Amino acid sequence: MTRYLNTAAALALAAAGPAMAEVTWEDIARDAETTGDVLMYGFGPEAQRFSPLDQVSDDTVARLVPAWSFSFGDERQRGQEVQAIVHDGVIYATGSYSRMFALDARTGEKLWQFSARLPEGIRPCCDVINRGAAIYGDLVFMGLLDASVVALDRHTGDVVWRKKFADYKLGYTMTGAPTIVHDAVTGRDLLIHGSSGDEFGVVGQLFARDPLTGEEIWMRPLVQGHMGRYMGEESTPTGSAEAPSWPRDADGNLVEAWHHGGGAPWQSASFDTETNTIIIGAGNPAPWNGWERWPGDSLFTSGQAYVDPSTGELVGFYQHTPNDTWDFSGNNEIILFDYTDAQGQTHRAGAHADRNGFFYVTDIDALSKRGGEINRPGALLNAFPFVDEISWASHIDLETGRPVEVEGQRPPPPAPGETRGAAVQVSPPFLGGKNWNPMSYSPRTGLFYIPANHWQEDYWTEEVSYAPGAAYLGMGFTIKQKFEDHVGILRAMDPATGEIAWERKEPLPLWAGTMATAGNLVFTGTSDGFFKAFDATTGEELWKFQTGSGIVSSPVTWEEDGVQYIGVASGYGGAVPLWGGEMAKLTRDVQQGGSFWVFRLADFQEAANRN
Ligand code: CA
Ligand code: CA
Repeated sequence: MTRYLNTAAALALAAAGPAMAEVTWEDIARDAETTGDVLMYGFGPEAQRFSPLDQVSDDTVARLVPAWSFSFGDERQRGQEVQAIVHDGVIYATGSYSRMFALDARTGEKLWQFSARLPEGIRPCCDVINRGAAIYGDLVFMGLLDASVVALDRHTGDVVWRKKFADYKLGYTMTGAPTIVHDAVTGRDLLIHGSSGDEFGVVGQLFARDPLTGEEIWMRPLVQGHMGRYMGEESTPTGSAEAPSWPRDADGNLVEAWHHGGGAPWQSASFDTETNTIIIGAGNPAPWNGWERWPGDSLFTSGQAYVDPSTGELVGFYQHTPNDTWDFSGNNEIILFDYTDAQGQTHRAGAHADRNGFFYVTDIDALSKRGGEINRPGALLNAFPFVDEISWASHIDLETGRPVEVEGQRPPPPAPGETRGAAVQVSPPFLGGKNWNPMSYSPRTGLFYIPANHWQEDYWTEEVSYAPGAAYLGMGFTIKQKFEDHVGILRAMDPATGEIAWERKEPLPLWAGTMATAGNLVFTGTSDGFFKAFDATTGEELWKFQTGSGIVSSPVTWEEDGVQYIGVASGYGGAVPLWGGEMAKLTRDVQQGGSFWVFRLADFQEAANRN
């Protein structure tokens, strides 16, 4: 452990070259272009997961071999869903049970490990996972399962600050990677994070903190009518104090569900530097059972939220699933890209493949405008299915921006005297046409690479009432196989036409992110443990490697000393084995694990060994 430097030594090295310097916003803003590091979840504010590196290419990938592998260790393993951060020759990989490892990127040597002491009674809905860290200055940050966020000295792993943001006993937790953004108006750099917990009736909240001290700058709840906070004081209610999209009882009071209404932003934010706007998906309304929230759209849940970094005000919102009764949620990543429409006009756009089965292209300029109406369905540029046989809606009306629902797909309430209603078959099921695992976008091919799944569910209503810390669903389900020959389906899609350029089927569900590179490659992992590379243009499978456990994480790539490295975590778990019904049985034989793998071309192995 010799990497810790005193201030004088650090300054001397910083003067010698940019590599040792503290991480600044300027570094993070350029992350997508700089090939020596990976500084943000999604590889930069646009979250495209595209690398300009091409040493590993469709021509050379056959020579890709492991450089090293590192075991996360411990008796308790579970799912490893991390996307690593890479800076200054060090990999920062978070692991299950709120752990972080700092590894020498060339050798895999462990530099330090942080293991959070977690209380009994944490309530993660969907496994004890973590999706990654953020980096800024000399600090690395991660969310913990006990509803807190921690900053560690990146040289030592020592805790610099730790802030609790909610009560884990009520179901609040944190699994997503925090992100750093820069507010162009105040000049402040901010650490942005949300929480998980919609299955326990939390009120979803987005937080902005001073990254150096952890002090909260603002907090924005995502249930309409709940009060926000700015510098420790009440600020404004979200949308409007009357909350017209939520129902009231006979006495004129908002119903129970409104008090525990969900909308948790549990994934990572993107950031549009042109309009100075935070963009993040909001979770499902609670409870799942939509009759408890009927009538009304249950804003601001199951959609994408546009937030002003200066004040935490919600400035725009587009809802994918009004009055979501299927737990589709709106959390999946929003990738920022330049979209050319049928008339040849270019828009600054957001791309989002929702759990509800539809792919959305939204107009960022329209949704980030300050003032006026917040819910703007007219900001939709395009929408089409990315999976087959969606049962709950026929299509998205591009005029209104709303789904055209298929009658009978909202499961009926229990008949009088019954505790559960009749089952309805729904596709996609709540685990989604695609879940949290991020897609990628290649500006070279113009295609999105979507790790999708084909499956379905039997779905029915149940009686429900809120109890602190207990599941708050009001729905029952069994997830089932849909097609005989596959569940997972990796699809390359054209965002203008919705056409599928190519697809690859997998027998098990896909639960890993994808990464596109300038080497004309797409990388992803499979639940049965293979790390795979595909031709980005044709979809031909060019390379695979068995990592020993299932892959449910997001790959990264970087270069050091002229060598391109590719890293990915292996370790099966996540929501599928816990909630997946028949699909959980399908993955029963997958071995548990917990390791980080790094690959490079074989030609470079010898040269590196001589160093
Ligand atoms: Ca970079
Ligand atoms: Ca949910």
